[in-house]
Amino acid sequence: MNYYAGIDLGGTKTYCVIIDEKGNILSREKIKIGTDRKIEPVLDIVCECYKAAIAGANLTENDIFAVGMAVPSAVNTEKQILLNAPNLGWKNIKIGEIMSNKLNKPVFVDNDVNLGTFGEYTFGKAQKYKNVYGIFVGTGVGGGYIHDGKLVRGAGFTAGEIGHMIVKQGGTMCNCGNQGCLEAIAGKVGIIKHIERKIEEKGKTTKLDEISPNWRNSVGASALHKAIKSKDKLTIKAVERSAEAIGVACSNIINTIGIDAIILGGGIIEELGDIYLPIIRLTIQECSMANGGSNFPIIISELADDAVALGAAWQAVEIYSQK
Ligand SMILES: [Zn+2]
Repeated sequence: MNYYAGIDLGGTKTYCVIIDEKGNILSREKIKIGTDRKIEPVLDIVCECYKAAIAGANLTENDIFAVGMAVPSAVNTEKQILLNAPNLGWKNIKIGEIMSNKLNKPVFVDNDVNLGTFGEYTFGKAQKYKNVYGIFVGTGVGGGYIHDGKLVRGAGFTAGEIGHMIVKQGGTMCNCGNQGCLEAIAGKVGIIKHIERKIEEKGKTTKLDEISPNWRNSVGASALHKAIKSKDKLTIKAVERSAEAIGVACSNIINTIGIDAIILGGGIIEELGDIYLPIIRLTIQECSMANGGSNFPIIISELADDAVALGAAWQAVEIYSQK
């Protein structure tokens, strides 16, 4: 039996799974990355997490056949170059070669949401469809596009960057430098900005001050949920606005590329689904052309934290098991 590792390197933590060649997860490991975002210390933590996951599965490094790795960046998958990871401050890094040397294994690197969508597609309810789009809503908004059962990366390796689809011309400034991107409205970053703006403009108050005092810097989806439950108007409005924007983006995808289903995942969807999903469904119905949005299949992610790492590991299985 061959075994594979899947690594999910995020902006705040690294997560690793070990799987067998059937896709069963044998172990999981998670380690926070510190405030030092230089490449070497971060990759040292990634290696530590990888080794701990192997030990957790009662295996040795020799048992691992190949590794898949997900990074929060567009990746030139042919040359295995990480192009731009704003949350880590990394650009143009030969990540595949570096990791392969460190782990002494074949390593395949790709964008995290591509691999998350691939994981959900391979192991979740979306399997029965051929063309699906995954949208993950958390701090930011990411996406992945599967056509004919295969990930589409595009000529510039940016296919699936739905977070930077402009849904409001002249709208809120996005971290990417454009205005009115989906992420700047619908991601947690956008939700926070909207609440701040309403407080500034209209002198309103929010219960988030008590629920999560540091909310302006970072707020969990569970804190937003609590604020909604306690009928905090600013939070309710900001989350509804986020859901509408995601609904508009879904309709844009349905109208332009004609997919069979959409997979929705990420912290906001998992935690706020009750208020979020009905708005998305309604917006899709209203905005999709030629009745394309009525009863459109929306699949909620089932793999949660495992999606990206499992997708990464399974990509390694598909690429290296034949070689
Ligand atoms: Zn943007």
